Amino acid sequence: MRFRLVPALIAILLHSSLVCAANAVRFRGIDYVHLDALLSEKFLNGTAELTYWGRNIVITLPDCQVIIENGGDRIRDRNGLVHHLTNPILVLGRDWYLPVEESAPIFNVEFSVHEPLVTRFGGKTLLLEPEDILADYPFAQVRNLRPESKTVELTRSVNGWSCLGESPIAEALEAGTTLVLRRTVSIDDEDWVIATTNDELLESWLIRDADVANSSREVDSQQTYVARLLEAARALASHERAIRYGPRERRKNQVALTSDLCWSLRPCENRLYEMVSERAADGRPSSITNFITGRWLQQYPLAVHDLIFREQQKGYHQVWGLHSWDHPKSGIFMNAYAPESLRGDTLALEKKMLEWGIVPDIFYRFPGLIHDRVRLETIIDLGLIPVDCDSWVSGMHLDRLPTRLKAQSGSILLVHGNGNEARGIDRLFKWVEDNPEFDFAPLGLFVDPDAALEDARARAVMTVN
Ligand SMILES: [Zn+2]
Repeated sequence: MRFRLVPALIAILLHSSLVCAANAVRFRGIDYVHLDALLSEKFLNGTAELTYWGRNIVITLPDCQVIIENGGDRIRDRNGLVHHLTNPILVLGRDWYLPVEESAPIFNVEFSVHEPLVTRFGGKTLLLEPEDILADYPFAQVRNLRPESKTVELTRSVNGWSCLGESPIAEALEAGTTLVLRRTVSIDDEDWVIATTNDELLESWLIRDADVANSSREVDSQQTYVARLLEAARALASHERAIRYGPRERRKNQVALTSDLCWSLRPCENRLYEMVSERAADGRPSSITNFITGRWLQQYPLAVHDLIFREQQKGYHQVWGLHSWDHPKSGIFMNAYAPESLRGDTLALEKKMLEWGIVPDIFYRFPGLIHDRVRLETIIDLGLIPVDCDSWVSGMHLDRLPTRLKAQSGSILLVHGNGNEARGIDRLFKWVEDNPEFDFAPLGLFVDPDAALEDARARAVMTVN
């Protein structure tokens, strides 16, 4: 297994203003131009403005408008024609970078692909000097990612990895541990399994396939804690519900903090992650769950790296939940996806996470918390647990069932770490100040079969009434 540290990247993280200064960056062999450089007075002489709740960038040029739409995966040209980008625009801190080769024709700009990189427009020249960021993902080839459904007990201790890549975190999993094997996958030509511990923490690990084969015996899948949890999730799914809160009495003065990373054009909410880091530094339990999307992984390479890097801090605990690749933001959301498409979307996201060395956890959050029975059951059939929230923090002052309650013991809190809901982060900070006795505990402790069944029964009574 290769673990590559990229010194240039570390330098960039420490001095992120360097990135802002670059008029172009190179990411995985693709060159991107800084939007400000393209629109500079000396070149296209245009302006850019973020509009429509942060989904579009409207570019005004001297003679027309060009619009970067849908969070930067497509551009509408001066004639209204929409061009889908193979490489969506990058959001690095507060700066936007466009893929040069794909966007040049849309802006009627000439582009030379040979060094030195030059773009030309109306007799004017822009020399691009790309700075390399993250030359590659830590893992080049993630292949044959497939669902698996098997439960084993370890007969010998084996190593499990909760994070690979640039800051690998390994732990010995003791003999006698029961593991639910959820996926098999080949990473850079080595076979691995993704396994989740059969206990209330529900921690997921990458383990070498050979280690599992040589050091475990298969046990009955039906009698496990995880099987009971999946059954409880099915009971909720029959009411079109996902898990919203944990066992309130057992989670006294504890909440689960979750941050949705839906695609965006705004900078990541570093202040949120700093707050969690500071609490960890003070020796308080500090766990945060990122519900991440494929689009965000694609468009925020430096922020993703920064989040991975934080796991090295003692006491900082991070969970990596799934929030779909596409993340539709209107209509009937994922309910528009046929089960096969939903499965494909989910596995594509897990594959991209693995390329980063991130081990996908067992938790799934539907975009917009919108899901019907078919979609919920499709996700449960993939061995995943759908998780909503009872306290969407930006609206919790409303104290309304089912997802906008004031945070209380056992609550699952939802904020947006993607910058799209700054008010929610402000309200979280105020709540933290007013409720110093509360700790952020790992999400697994809130994803509880008894609490889920209680919620399903309450729902059944409501339906009867
Ligand atoms: Zn979302």
